[in-house]
Amino acid sequence: MTTNVQSIAEREELLRNVPMLSVLPANLLSEVAANAELRSLDTGEIVFHAGELATDFYILLSGRIQHPEVETAVADAVVRREVTNAGDIFGYAAFVDLNGYRIISATVAEPTRVMAVNGAAFRRVLSRWGKEGHDLLQVFALSYASHEHRIAQKAGWVSVRNAGKVYDPKGKAVVAVDDCSIEIRPGEFCAIVGPSGCGKSTLLNAIAGFDGLTSGEILLDGNLINRPRMHPKPGPDRIVVFQNGALFPWASVRENLIRGPIIRGAMSETEALARARELLERVGLSDIEDLFPGAMSSGMCRRVEIIRAILNEPRVILLDEPFRGLDALTKTVTQTALLELYDLTRKTVLFITHDLEEAIYLADRVFVMTTRPGRFKQTIAIDIPRPRDAKMLTSPEFIRLKEEAIEAVHEEAVKAFAAGEKEFA
Ligand code: ADP
Repeated sequence: MTTNVQSIAEREELLRNVPMLSVLPANLLSEVAANAELRSLDTGEIVFHAGELATDFYILLSGRIQHPEVETAVADAVVRREVTNAGDIFGYAAFVDLNGYRIISATVAEPTRVMAVNGAAFRRVLSRWGKEGHDLLQVFALSYASHEHRIAQKAGWVSVRNAGKVYDPKGKAVVAVDDCSIEIRPGEFCAIVGPSGCGKSTLLNAIAGFDGLTSGEILLDGNLINRPRMHPKPGPDRIVVFQNGALFPWASVRENLIRGPIIRGAMSETEALARARELLERVGLSDIEDLFPGAMSSGMCRRVEIIRAILNEPRVILLDEPFRGLDALTKTVTQTALLELYDLTRKTVLFITHDLEEAIYLADRVFVMTTRPGRFKQTIAIDIPRPRDAKMLTSPEFIRLKEEAIEAVHEEAVKAFAAGEKEFA
C-alpha cells in the first residue's frame, strides 16, 4: 500500500464530489479533508478484516473493492458485494460504531485508489453540525445496523489458511493434512475429493470445530474458529451431516425438523412447520412427517437430515460422505434433492466424497487432494449452469470434467496404494 501526499484542497475537492458528503458546509468539509489521506492499493490487499478495530472509513476513487461475505447479499442491501462506483463510501463502522469492530471484510479486486478518512474526526465534525450532522449519522447508522449485521449473520465465508494437522505429534506423528488453503465463498458449493485416508475428514472436522489444528488457521466470516493451541468449539453456525445419520430415533420427522428452530426462538411452531412442509414437499417427501426414522429408508433419512440442517440456519453445511452406502438409484435421487434444496437456500456447502461423479454433479468447485499428507493438488471449476438434474450426468461437458478429475485423482490413488503396500510389507 502506498500513501500519496496531496494538499488538503485537493482532498477537499475529491470529498465534495461524494454525494453523501457534498452537503457538508465548506469549513467542516475542509476539516474532514485534513483528516484524510489518499491510498493506492494493489490487487489482493486486504483493506480491513472482519474482527478488526474500525478506525478509518473509505471513499472509492477508482478501482474495485470486494466484501467477500456479501456474495449472497439480498438485493436491497446497502452493503453490496462490490464497491465499484467512484464516490461510494465503505467501511463506515469507523464512525457509526466508534471503537467498534469490523463485521465484514474488504479486499482489493484490482488496482484501486481510495481516500481513507479518520472515523473519529468525521464523527466530531458531524457532532458540531447540529441536527443535520445527527441526521446524516442516523442514515449511516441505520444502513450499517440493518444491513451489515444482517449479512454478516448469515454469510458463510470459510477461509482455510495453511492448515496442517499432525496426529500423535510426540509419538508416531501422522501428518494427515499439510499446508492446505482454500477460500469458500458465501453461498458456494464446494466438494473435496481424494483417496481414502488423505485427510478430507480431518479438514472437515477442523472446520466443524471437532478437532484442533497443529498449524495454520480457519476463519468463518472473518472470525477465527480454529488454530493451534486453541480449543475449537463446534457451533450452530456449522452443521455437519454424516453418513450414519443423526436424526433422533425417538422423534417423528416433524419433531426432528421443528425442534431446533423453535428452541432457538427463530420461528414459531406454525412457521417452523410451514417451512418444514415446504421443504419436504420440494424433495418428494410430503406425507412422511408422522414417520419415525426407524421406519424410513436411508435415502429418506438423509433428505430429512439436510432439511433439518437448513431449518437450523447455519452459515455453512458440512457433509462428510453423506450418501456413501446408498444404492445407485437412491443416491441419484438424494443428490438431486440436495441440489434442489441448495438452489432454494444458497447456503455455503462443503461436501466431502471420494465419488468424483458426485462431486462434479453437485459442486461449483471441486478440490482434489493429494494422498497423505493431504494437500490441495488441483481445483476444478464446474461451470455447468444450475439448476442441474440427472440429465447432465451424460452431457459432454460433464464427461470432460470427469476425465479431468479422474486423471488428477488416479495419480494420487496409485501413490496411496503404493504407500499402503509399503506399510504392509
Ligand atoms: P479421509 O477422510 O480422507 O479418508 P482422514 O482425515 O480420516 O482421511 O485421515 C487422514 C489420515 O490421518 C489417515 O492416515 C488416518 O489414518 C489418520 N488419522 C485420522 N484420525 C486419526 C487419529 N485420531 N489418530 C491418528 N491418526 C489419525
